[in-house]
Amino acid sequence: MTENQALERPLPLMPAAGHLTLSTGDTPVTAGPGCIDELKQIVGEAHVVDAPADVERRARVTIPRRKMPRAFVYPGSTAEVQQIVALANRHQILLWPCSTGRNWGYGAATPQVEGSLVVVLERIDRVLEVNEELAYAVIEPGVTYEQFNAYLKQHHPRLWIDCTDGPPNGSVLGNALERGIGETPNGDHFGCICGMEVVLPTGERIQTGGGAIDGLRTWNTHKWGTGPYLEGIFTQSNLGIVTKAGIWLMPEPEAYCSYIFEVYDAGRFPELVDTFRRLALQGVLQTKLHLINDVVLFTVLTQLKNENLGGQSFLTQTDIARLRDKYQVAPWAGGSGIYGTKDQVRYQKKVLRQELARFGRIEFMDRRKYHLVTALLPIVKRLRNNPTAKKLIDKTLRLTLKASVEMLEAAPRTYDILQGIPTEYFVSHAYFRSKMDKPFSKIDPAVDGCGLTWFAPILPLTVGDLVPFLDHCRQRFEAFGFNFYVAMLMMNARSIIALQAILFDRDKPDELERAEALYADLVSYLQGHGLQQYRTGVQCWDMLFDEAPEFLALNNKLKAALDPNNILSPGKCRIGAPQ
Ligand code: ADP
Repeated sequence: MTENQALERPLPLMPAAGHLTLSTGDTPVTAGPGCIDELKQIVGEAHVVDAPADVERRARVTIPRRKMPRAFVYPGSTAEVQQIVALANRHQILLWPCSTGRNWGYGAATPQVEGSLVVVLERIDRVLEVNEELAYAVIEPGVTYEQFNAYLKQHHPRLWIDCTDGPPNGSVLGNALERGIGETPNGDHFGCICGMEVVLPTGERIQTGGGAIDGLRTWNTHKWGTGPYLEGIFTQSNLGIVTKAGIWLMPEPEAYCSYIFEVYDAGRFPELVDTFRRLALQGVLQTKLHLINDVVLFTVLTQLKNENLGGQSFLTQTDIARLRDKYQVAPWAGGSGIYGTKDQVRYQKKVLRQELARFGRIEFMDRRKYHLVTALLPIVKRLRNNPTAKKLIDKTLRLTLKASVEMLEAAPRTYDILQGIPTEYFVSHAYFRSKMDKPFSKIDPAVDGCGLTWFAPILPLTVGDLVPFLDHCRQRFEAFGFNFYVAMLMMNARSIIALQAILFDRDKPDELERAEALYADLVSYLQGHGLQQYRTGVQCWDMLFDEAPEFLALNNKLKAALDPNNILSPGKCRIGAPQ
């Protein structure tokens, strides 16, 4: 793999250890020598990483550019976080807190301001409480999806988490604090947060909810508390470091099944959108339904380098038709889960079959089918090693199920994710343009030099909003030389995220520049059309709120009041940005 920095700005000159030169506002502030030593005294020497090569590796990103941090620090407790904040105020060090730093495509663990100290909370990783009766838990920021799911399976198997199709070792709270979304009826992750403990930029520990610290019995059951509701100001912001929070869980339902469906005729997309909105408003569709285009499936099922395209980086219509046929992929495919009593699930299956079968194939997967498919797949894959058997198997699957082996493999992964069991399977899409083979475990597209930027606009769930917007985006992707990748995630019955990945080869400077230019082009279109992203990354904060100066000014006032030294993630969402 070539190093990430090959295509980035040259690395900044690193200040000597213990001597940080940083700039907040117009005045550069220099922290005296010994800062790093002080940090080591707080968290222990093993938990500060300041050697430039190690910092460089940990600071890798999938987006085109990054700002190089000064060091990474890994506190082990809230008290240590408070001491770090105090030190930062004393020495004017800029802090960049994150939980696990795996929000690839939005900037990973890298800060908005060069030279910041990245505070990774992954060691603060306890599940502090699980309440089965009320179906919630209180967790720390280092708790990952993988760990949380395993913990509940072992100790409270009747409770399910909601995960994303992103990295299993990503933080549950990190995602919720960015207002990320998952897959089940609890997929609005911030919507399921109830009760936060926060270390403020001035070092005090507070709890939201308006009750006594550690004494409010509804802290994790009643979101709004007494008085102003403050939890929102600690999300997508830079006003505090969240050190624990309550999170609502899903009690294991009496019945569960997942389903996938296909839409053979792309021209019927508007009809599909109307169907979804109607079903969601009626409460028949209860979950974070995903609807993806063919390019998304190609990125999951294969890699460009394996498709004999002779170095070509763009799939033509002919290539797309060939890949659709090879992998039995429709122009659009979707999937979701159904949860409830046996009667509820039976009823919903009936309605969904009625409503969706007219667009194409719809397949449900329950536990029995899941076990059958996962037992048969390894045998089928082994048999396919023989070329004659492969032909026969592929033909049979095509005729009987309208599926490929690759597509069959994806179905059980979907079944898992929709019950909160995370998998790395879908993260591998980031390697579509990579020269290395997709890894099977411990996936880290940032370290592996993959190029991926997320563009995450959210729209009203109407044909009039969606269709012209998607046409525009597709046209812009193609004008910049990229295939259009869009995954539509239903946020609620009224709005939908049209999540788009710009996948690029970061070893090609021209491609990297085009990726950056396409992103800027898409963001500027939003601004002119009354639209925004549901979640943003470091790549676009300088561009935010041009059209909303009042909103930015209010946030800057809050920032100045809560963080007088502007030490906490200045510039995040453009708030407290160094001038
Ligand atoms: P992931 O779960 O994807 O690894 P990160 O840990 O990278 O998420 O967090 C994404 C962003 O959310 C961070 O860059 C930071 O701005 C914010 N964030 C994450 N965790 C916290 C936290 N505990 N307190 C405050 N902000 C946080």
